[in-house]
Formats: sequence, structure tokens, C-alpha cells
Amino acid sequence: MHFSRFPRVHLAHLPTALEPMDRLSETLGGPRVWIKRDDCTGLSTGGNKTRKLEFLMAEAAAQGADLVITQGATQSNHARQTAAFAARMGMDCHILLEDRTGSNDVDYNTNGNVFLDYLHGATAEKRPGGLDMNAEMEAVAETFRAKGRNVYTIPGGGSNPTGALGYANAAMELVQQANAMGLKIDRIVHATGSAGTQAGLIVGLKAINADIPLLGIGVRAPRPKQEENVYNLAIATAEKLGCPGVVARDDIVANTDYVGEGYGIPTPECLQAIEMFARLEGILLDPVYSGKGGAGLVDLIRKGEFAGDENIVFLHTGGAVALFGYTGAFGYDRPAVQAAE
Ligand SMILES: *Cc1c(COP(=O)(O)O)cnc(C)c1O
Repeated sequence: MHFSRFPRVHLAHLPTALEPMDRLSETLGGPRVWIKRDDCTGLSTGGNKTRKLEFLMAEAAAQGADLVITQGATQSNHARQTAAFAARMGMDCHILLEDRTGSNDVDYNTNGNVFLDYLHGATAEKRPGGLDMNAEMEAVAETFRAKGRNVYTIPGGGSNPTGALGYANAAMELVQQANAMGLKIDRIVHATGSAGTQAGLIVGLKAINADIPLLGIGVRAPRPKQEENVYNLAIATAEKLGCPGVVARDDIVANTDYVGEGYGIPTPECLQAIEMFARLEGILLDPVYSGKGGAGLVDLIRKGEFAGDENIVFLHTGGAVALFGYTGAFGYDRPAVQAAE
């Protein structure tokens, strides 16, 4: 895999750290759990979209775009990171936000990622839940093109073969880090949504023959749909990278048992995982993605899914900014004086 063949803007802080979480590991009494800090990629607090946007936004620049349009859920981390990239590269950014949760909560609708979208200078418009958002976005792009703008559109989550290159590259980075530390990785676990992270990772892992199984924890779609989305994108990404055929269908594993009521609706286990990581490791997960991924990891460890002598890497995909859209879910709004009594 020779990534320099593809246009790329080097804005991410890489390599991200790979660290043990020994207090969490001891508390759970299972394997040794490590964390790959892709929540710390630099721009606008970071997150997993940054690696994808390095390739996507380079393509936008190469095409002479002056306006980038993307879409996501109201508390989309991808939209916020795109707005930050556009700001850094001197482009305008317009975002379509889909109301996937139906929440009327003021923080959910205006704080967290929404606040940062506007802070980075992006404009936004809303859509009700359930529409074909990429089609909505293309229609909006046409109206801007008719006004003479040079528009580059980015699909939800930055998940197309160009964006997934970022995670094929991340697989190579992680394996190099582990080799330098003498660390044998037995499994990689992460939250999977629009599929680009898992698709890129599996292509990278297979292309370098790493022999490390990958487990996605779903946050939205049921298992067959999620795995199909990842598989289709992995095939297209492998072709783009010049290694067609490296990924087999059974390399794609998504556990969707931790979605709960739906996308963007935190489960009790998700909130518990967020508190656990915060209180044992000082690490911030988020209520939509990494919290559910963390909940899956914790539950699978408790169920004995991993052997005690294994090393498990949890890829932290970021998202903590969304916590400020969900403060009500934690019930900490009691006055401090009451807590002291
Ligand atoms: C987008 C996102 C994911 C999921 O990554 P995909 O590539 O969309 O599957 C996981 N965690 C966070 C915090 C995200 O923002």
C-alpha cells in the first residue's frame, strides 16, 4: 500500500498514541486492554473523521472546490470535523443535519457539535429523519452549482473509498507501532457506523497480512445490513488501493447487540461505559458511538469473549464533543450543595 499515490493534506496529528488501560483491565479482570487514541487527531478536538478528511479534502482542493457540502445527524462529529478542515483550507462549508432522534432537548439541538459547526463558520440546514440524505445533499449541491459555486460533496461519515484510505493507513500505523513495542495484538474493537473506519481497517490489515481479527460494534443498522455495508465499501477500497480480493466476506464482523433503542439514543450500558472510562482512565467516550463501542467491549470481556492473556486494542474514534449535547442523560444536574449533604 503506497498512500503517497493519493492526494492528501497532512493535518492530523499522527501517529496517535497507543496506550494500556490498566485500571480498566484490572477492574474487568479480563484481557489487557489498550487504547488507540484516534480521539486525539488534532483539528477541532479530533476524531476518526480526520484521517478520512485528509484524503477527501485533498481531492476537494485538487478539484478547485470553494464549497464543501456534507451531511450527518444533528450531533455529527463528521460534520464538525469537516467544518474545521474547510476553515483550515479556506473553503466554505455547508451541512445538512438529519434529525434522527426526534429530541427537543436544547443542548442536543444547539450545543456540542452543532455549536462547533457554527463556530467554524459553517452554514447548516435541517432535515427530518429517514430521508435519503446523500440524495438531499446532491440536490442542495446542484442549487449552489447553479449559482456558480465549485462544490465538492462528501457522503455521510466521509465513508467512500477515498475516505476509507485513511483507515487502511491507520491499520498500517497501528501494526507498525505494535511491532516497535513488541506488542502482539489479538483483536481490535471499535464502534462502526457509516462503515468507512471498519472497511479501511480491514483492507489495511489484510493487505499487510497482519492476521489480526477486527470487531465492529454497531450503533445503528442491524447486523446483516451493517456487515454488507462494510463489505461493499471494503471491496471498493481494496480496488482503489490496488489490492483487489484481499478481503473475504467472513473478515467482516459487526456485533449489533448494543444499539439499544436506536441511533443516538444512549443505553444505560453506554452511559455506564462512559463513566467507567472517565473514572478509571480519565478518557472521554461519547454517547452515540464510542460509548456503545465501549459498552460492547466491557460486556464481551465480562462474558469471557477474550482470553486473560490476550491484548485487545480499543480504537477510540472520538466524539466526546457530543457529551455536551447529552448532559441531561447523566442526571448530574443536582446542585453541588445537595451532593455534599
Ligand atoms: C463516525 C464515528 C464513528 C463510526 O465510524 P464510521 O467510519 O462512520 O463507521 C465512530 N465513532 C465516532 C465518535 C464517530 O464520529
